[in-house]
Amino acid sequence: MAQPDILSILKQETTATDYDRFLKQLSYKKNMSDENIAVFEVQNKYIASWIKTKYTNTIQHCFELLNGSKPKIEIKLTGEKQKSKKELISEQEKNSSSESTMLNPSYTFDSFVLGPSNQMAYNASLAVSKKPGILYNPLFIYGGTGLGKTHLLQSIGNYAIEQGKTVIYVTIEQFMNDFTFSIKNKNMEHFRTKYRKCDILLIDDIQFLSGKEQTQEEFFHTFNELHNAKKQIVMTSDRLPSQIAGLVDRLKSRFEWGLTADIQIPGLETKIAIIEKKSELNGIVLTRDVINYIATNLDSSIREIEGVLIRINASANLLNQEINLELAQSLLKEQIKEQKENIKLPDIITVVASELNIKPSDIKSKKRTATVANARRVVIYLARELTHNSMPDIAKFLGMKDHSSISHNIKKANELIEKDENFKLIIENLKNKIINKEW
Ligand code: ADP
Ligand code: MG
Repeated sequence: MAQPDILSILKQETTATDYDRFLKQLSYKKNMSDENIAVFEVQNKYIASWIKTKYTNTIQHCFELLNGSKPKIEIKLTGEKQKSKKELISEQEKNSSSESTMLNPSYTFDSFVLGPSNQMAYNASLAVSKKPGILYNPLFIYGGTGLGKTHLLQSIGNYAIEQGKTVIYVTIEQFMNDFTFSIKNKNMEHFRTKYRKCDILLIDDIQFLSGKEQTQEEFFHTFNELHNAKKQIVMTSDRLPSQIAGLVDRLKSRFEWGLTADIQIPGLETKIAIIEKKSELNGIVLTRDVINYIATNLDSSIREIEGVLIRINASANLLNQEINLELAQSLLKEQIKEQKENIKLPDIITVVASELNIKPSDIKSKKRTATVANARRVVIYLARELTHNSMPDIAKFLGMKDHSSISHNIKKANELIEKDENFKLIIENLKNKIINKEW
């Protein structure tokens, strides 16, 4: 059989700039790898950390394309001592094991920057950490992608563990996998003891319960049991309970029993404070003009801002120069250009249709119901914002006769963004999902 060539797949799946500059320096260590672990070596530690942060999922995805496997990706420095396969596997098992609480120790209240956009969620999180099960139960934190929900949720976990509490942190997907696994292995008792006997249950991204009836049923019982025993439940979601389609009413209402707290997009001052904190934590030295430039030019997601910081730092190290405004500008311009080249109109339709719960085909149809017209407007707006397509291109793609209605829709969308907070939130959320390819 021909040797699989992971790098050539990676080349196809990534942008030419990233590949030529960084990714092609990876060397795949086939003899250290198997279907569970893929080991790569690279010469420079900044490149290693940049690739780890930005490309782990993509590399995994490439293995999936190549041979259907989804190995853990290990990127090590050339010559660095190799962990034994046993160590790596046990690390991996520990991580994916249902027993472990996978808290990131750097997600703490101390490392979280407080601002008007997240104050309510922060205060509520701190309050439940100090008095679990007493104040707000459940606490439901919602807001757009990359704005700090997981960070806050895990801060609660880290705080409570220090107080000697039993904490379980899982994404709802892990809960679901755990549940399915327990049914298959006839080990429901173990599952139930685990989830119903903790002091604090932290569930991340609960919106993915949508449409999962059996898991909803099980979660309903878990919720009741914990709530009756005055144990704390905290959930995060990218939207309000009432906006999660395919969620049974009895869960919707329970999710609103306690407190719902939102996280909004941070304003300029908060963004600047976050950039300062993150660069300090990562030992990156930035001048004032660079900080201001990044804060004014990246508007929606902190995750994206962090990615840019890592990238700027990696480039400066490679070029052996200081980070200055010129470097920041050229990297950001390049990134925006690449982003635009990478986003395709059908992708926008896919994400918008799935998030707004309509059929993708409706968007290109002649239907004029309010829901469809709204979704079409959102697609048009995002197509203009996120791609290089002209108004006539977009009109043609959507089967619309002329592009005057495109400009009309864009105008209308801009008006809504100005006056309707909810619409603005939906748009920001969709933008982040499309940019981060989360669908
Ligand atoms: P979400 O779960 O809402 O998608 P995350 O909690 O994963 O977002 O946050 C994305 C990144 O942004 C994380 O690295 C997190 O530490 C950082 N971040 C977000 N908000 C803040 C904040 N207010 N202070 C410090 N870091 C933040
Ligand atoms: Mg999250």
